Amino acid sequence: MTLDWILACSACANTRAPDGLPTVCDLCGQPWLVRYRRAAPTVTARAEVRRGHGMWRFQPFLPLAEGEQPVTLGEGDTPLLHLRRSGAHLGLRDLWLKDEGVNPTGSFKARGLSAAVTRAVAAGATRLVIPTAGNAGVALSAYASRAGVRARVFAPRTTPPVILEQVRVFGGELELVDGHIGDAGRLAAAWSAAEGAYNVSTLREPYRIEGKKTLAFELAVQFGWTMPDAIIYPTGGGTGLIGMWKAFTELIEAGWVRGTPPRLFSVQAAGCAPVVRAFESGADRGEPWPDPQTVAAGLRVPAPLGDRLMLQALRESGGGAVAVSDTELTEAARVASRTEGIDVSPEGGAAFAAVRQLRENGTLRAEDRVVIFNTGAGWLYRG
Ligand SMILES: *Cc1c(COP(=O)(O)O)cnc(C)c1O
Repeated sequence: MTLDWILACSACANTRAPDGLPTVCDLCGQPWLVRYRRAAPTVTARAEVRRGHGMWRFQPFLPLAEGEQPVTLGEGDTPLLHLRRSGAHLGLRDLWLKDEGVNPTGSFKARGLSAAVTRAVAAGATRLVIPTAGNAGVALSAYASRAGVRARVFAPRTTPPVILEQVRVFGGELELVDGHIGDAGRLAAAWSAAEGAYNVSTLREPYRIEGKKTLAFELAVQFGWTMPDAIIYPTGGGTGLIGMWKAFTELIEAGWVRGTPPRLFSVQAAGCAPVVRAFESGADRGEPWPDPQTVAAGLRVPAPLGDRLMLQALRESGGGAVAVSDTELTEAARVASRTEGIDVSPEGGAAFAAVRQLRENGTLRAEDRVVIFNTGAGWLYRG
């Protein structure tokens, strides 16, 4: 089977063949990005993907060889819902929500891990390991089981209990960690080195980003091959933002959509906002956030490896970064669930709270087409 792409370093000029189990750039330690070496996706292929199902229908832009079967649980094809009532409250006529909570395992993490597990298992990995703030561990456990390989999950002891239980339900070998995802990351890396397990931590392997690109591909299909004006995205490790930025670039290059890509806005919790702080100070890297605290577990990432790429995506797209308090995000999630009948997670609530700020300060105009991401299901945080 020939893999028709290479890995190009996101920071230096280094490249590498895609064989084996890639980690980060061996010269500078920054993440690899996939660069395809196949014929450019045609406009005929565009009609075909529109008729297909699930995230793997976007194969022309995904790391899957001709005829190869992915490890899948039917992820993707999530609803894009027009928010008439919330839009009226917030002063936005054209407000939408992409509900990622209905994915297998309850969050958009399914997309990235479907892609990462597909490639890891194809390359011969039989043991996988991940540090997680929660949902990535659930998704890895499920996809590893689906592929018949083992998954070890390092998660903070303070992770919401239902999420920890879901890891066990899907057969993940759960290791509780005193500390945050950064501490879990160090333990996972050590365990990976000691046991020879493949570490699928955010941006330490190149394929989760590719799976996350399908968020943007689906928006393009759902909006009839047009792009929204702004995307409001609750940000932790950054795979969603970086993936969508890469996807819009690839869609424009292929001539599948025209116009300007959306302004990307990162939302973080005030108790852990390294990307917001770096954005505001004009820095091109973040500083590790001391003592990260928030109920929005997915946003509790004090030192994301992808900070450079996120900041680039926010600035190049003309977007921005917003911090909201835990009180604001919890209340916004509660109101949104009651107003719309959608099971909004704390992270999704953060996006609603950010839209309010961005509308009030005039960054978003009344007529803008705005998409909020509900990145996970609210039920994972209850109990
Ligand atoms: C992981 C996670 C996030 C953060 O995602 P990134 O794209 O890695 O920044 C946001 N919300 C939820 C529910 C998550 O599980």
